[in-house]
Amino acid sequence: MCIFCKIVNGEIPNNTVLEDENFLAFDDINPQAKIHTIVIPKAHVESFGDVSADTMSKMTPFIQEVTEKLNVSNSGYRLITNIGSDGGQEVPHLHFHILAGEPLRGLVNKS
Ligand code: AMP
Repeated sequence: MCIFCKIVNGEIPNNTVLEDENFLAFDDINPQAKIHTIVIPKAHVESFGDVSADTMSKMTPFIQEVTEKLNVSNSGYRLITNIGSDGGQEVPHLHFHILAGEPLRGLVNKS
């Protein structure tokens, strides 16, 4: 079982930001910004390459709700999903990173 499935099952603790029957948002254990939240579907899907349109149609409003709860929907944030080895995906369970809370630099940045 993958590490994020263990979090869903309660076998590994997490700091939950928001949860519903299908999705879970929790703090990243190794934050790369002042706010770094991970959003996952509870059902195991390996990556964005495998996710159904139906799941994404439900996950999109959930992610938006998480940004409201984090109070970053107006100040802005970066939404990232890494796919496969070249994409730098370490955990083989679809997840979106929400990075926020400060001006972000790095890849895909105009400055
Ligand atoms: P990725 O490289 O896109 O697969 O990102 C995996 C992310 O999961 C990294 O940012 C890790 O810090 C994070 N992570 C790994 N294990 C845990 C955990 N037990 N709780 C919270 N975040 C985790």
